[in-house]
Amino acid sequence: MSAIKENAARIQHAIAKAALQAGRRPEEITLLAATKTRTPAEVREVIAAGITTVGENRVQEMTEKLGSAAYDGASLHFIGRLQTNKVKLVVGRAALIHSVDSPRLAAELEKASARVGEQTQSGFVQEVLVEVNIGGEHSKGGIEPRDLPGFLQTLAEYGHLRVRGLMCIPPPAETPEQARRYFAAMRELFERSRALLAQGCEHVLSMGMSDDYEQAVLEGSTLVRVGTALFGPRNYR
Ligand SMILES: *Cc1c(COP(=O)(O)O)cnc(C)c1O
Repeated sequence: MSAIKENAARIQHAIAKAALQAGRRPEEITLLAATKTRTPAEVREVIAAGITTVGENRVQEMTEKLGSAAYDGASLHFIGRLQTNKVKLVVGRAALIHSVDSPRLAAELEKASARVGEQTQSGFVQEVLVEVNIGGEHSKGGIEPRDLPGFLQTLAEYGHLRVRGLMCIPPPAETPEQARRYFAAMRELFERSRALLAQGCEHVLSMGMSDDYEQAVLEGSTLVRVGTALFGPRNYR
């Protein structure tokens, strides 16, 4: 077995174990492969290993890999910080955008999504998550927890966006147990937000990365975003 395949099997097993420990069904949790810096060949390998949800961080890199058909057979998500001037390169290409972190970005996404609907003569709707600044860090993007209900209310009025749930990147933690505190806070926000999320679909709570995905699953994550534990350390080009 290749290293990626072995890692994928090990992580899926650990997710299932944490799910059962929390009294949840393992199928409730999606393992997303975070593919930043990985080559198209590595992306194809992870998809062949059965991980059919992949997440990209940078628009440029995503566009290049789309050009080489690297994501074929998978659902492509956008998980990185999105600049408003790059919105039109992501809307309609990513099945789910995890990182709606400001009213301005949301307004641009709504416009771009409406435009895709006109161009394709379809009732196109872009699915999104709202990124929450759960650690209250000044350096980080994301909606402050106290602003979340108002923000979700605004988004609910947009006809071309469907808010499926919430996402967070907690502050760096010394131990996985420290991260767990933030995940618990996110889960509480998520439960309180349900009525303001899109209805008639499953809701998504995107949290947990290589170092802490098990803690995230224990606290109710429905989607973990894993890079290093799947592919090995990153070499930034
Ligand atoms: C890179 C990245 C991940 C995965 O990080 P690892 O620590 O390598 O698992 C998850 N989420 C986002 C938003 C990322 O940018």
